[in-house]
Amino acid sequence: MSKKSEILIVGGGVAGLALATRLGNSIGKQGLARITLIDKSFSHVWKPMLHCFAAGTAQNENDRISFMAQANRHHFEFWPGEVTALDRESKQAVLGPLRGTDGRVVLEGRTVDYDALVLSVGSCANDFGTPGVAENCLFIDNLVEANGFNEKFRMELLRAYSGDIELNIAIVGGGATGTQLAAELHKSLELTGLHSFSQTPPVLNITLLEAGPRILPAFPESVSQAAQKELERIGVKVQTNAMVSGADAEGFSLKDGTHIKADMRVWAAGVKAPEVTRSFGGLSLSRSGQILVHPNLQSIDDPAVFAMGDCSYISDEPLPPTAQVARQQAHHLARHLPQWIANKKEIPSCVFNNKGAIVALGNYNGWGTLPGGTVFGGGILNGLSARLGHLMLYRQHQIELYGWTRGLISCFGAWIDTFIRPSVRLD
Ligand SMILES: Cc1cc2nc3c(=O)[nH]c(=O)nc-3n(C[C@H](O)[C@H](O)[C@H](O)COP(=O)(O)OP(=O)(O)OC[C@H]3O[C@@H](n4cnc5c(N)ncnc54)[C@H](O)[C@@H]3O)c2cc1C
Repeated sequence: MSKKSEILIVGGGVAGLALATRLGNSIGKQGLARITLIDKSFSHVWKPMLHCFAAGTAQNENDRISFMAQANRHHFEFWPGEVTALDRESKQAVLGPLRGTDGRVVLEGRTVDYDALVLSVGSCANDFGTPGVAENCLFIDNLVEANGFNEKFRMELLRAYSGDIELNIAIVGGGATGTQLAAELHKSLELTGLHSFSQTPPVLNITLLEAGPRILPAFPESVSQAAQKELERIGVKVQTNAMVSGADAEGFSLKDGTHIKADMRVWAAGVKAPEVTRSFGGLSLSRSGQILVHPNLQSIDDPAVFAMGDCSYISDEPLPPTAQVARQQAHHLARHLPQWIANKKEIPSCVFNNKGAIVALGNYNGWGTLPGGTVFGGGILNGLSARLGHLMLYRQHQIELYGWTRGLISCFGAWIDTFIRPSVRLD
């Protein structure tokens, strides 16, 4: 009996889990190939929700998708573990030992064979080597960090409530992540006030620091201006042209010599590929460590290796590190990998179809842009269309992974939950 072809996907984020699910439902179900997904965690969360989990304005118990359950329902295999290196000659991914929370080794390090390898290990914040950032700042690159952030935020709020002292938070990076986080933190304080033992909420000073001349540089200038106005209306201090030169336990130092005092320091500026890509068998990388791929997502060094999402880089036509790009690339490989694995049929270029972008400032306001440059949102409805659009993208992601029936039940469950749980995370 001939051996089944092995497709190995490393990283079950926006791109990886969509690909594993689609391939599982097609060639996995038909028994034409063995699809294996490896991720260093046990469950998937939609990364664009992380700032809400960090602020506590969304709870993640119902929003995590178990990799094992998803694998079981969609005809692929899942193994937890962190890929630490590649042996491209023998076509094997090397996994480090899997440790429990007590540090004990649960699974020894091992290797997994592949005929086609798809790398989708995402990205992390880029501190550009700024002194003190790694030691003194919080990041929200994954669920563990978002939950850790929320724990600290709640403890700092408690301290501020009980001691009647001000809480100062500074966020570096006026892109979508930093801007949305600033609004969500403000919303969180408002919601916490509804459940608090004290009638007077503490003063929360949020400062958003952006090195460039305006926040949300990926959006039209009108959106940047409107978003800055909205943030300032709710009390967030926005400082543009603020070049951060260092961080310490007290706050941030700026190039112009000023020091911004902050009890919580958040770094949300720039992205780079995880360090591990440097151990991927000498694959060519961009300056930010992303794997260089042809427009068809095949590595420029090795036809058996593909990369998609934030960890990939197309030199001729770089794409932004967004969920939209990751999703479209996953769909492209799901369509073409079965033919490639069966008879090495060449994979066509993946053409990115820009469908626009949305930014939502809590429930205060939101804007979206369409490919032609049309801007929607804002106005008297406080950006309701854009805010709903943001929510719809999340629900679309869940429905794609769960299927219609379970996806709709999950939306309904989330709605029911609003009658049971507090509107903000309190424990
Ligand atoms: C706070 C925040 C808000 C955002 N908001 C938006 C938004 O509004 N719109 C938008 O389009 N984009 C947004 N983004 C960007 C978007 O989330 C990413 O572009 C998208 O998640 C990239 O998908 P991916 O599959 O490449 O990587 P990810 O979704 O990051 O998944 C990577 C996966 O790889 C796993 N992994 C990493 N290393 C290893 C390893 N060595 N071994 C095994 N597994 C590994 C991780 O556990 C993870 O599951 C936001 C990002 C953040 C952080």
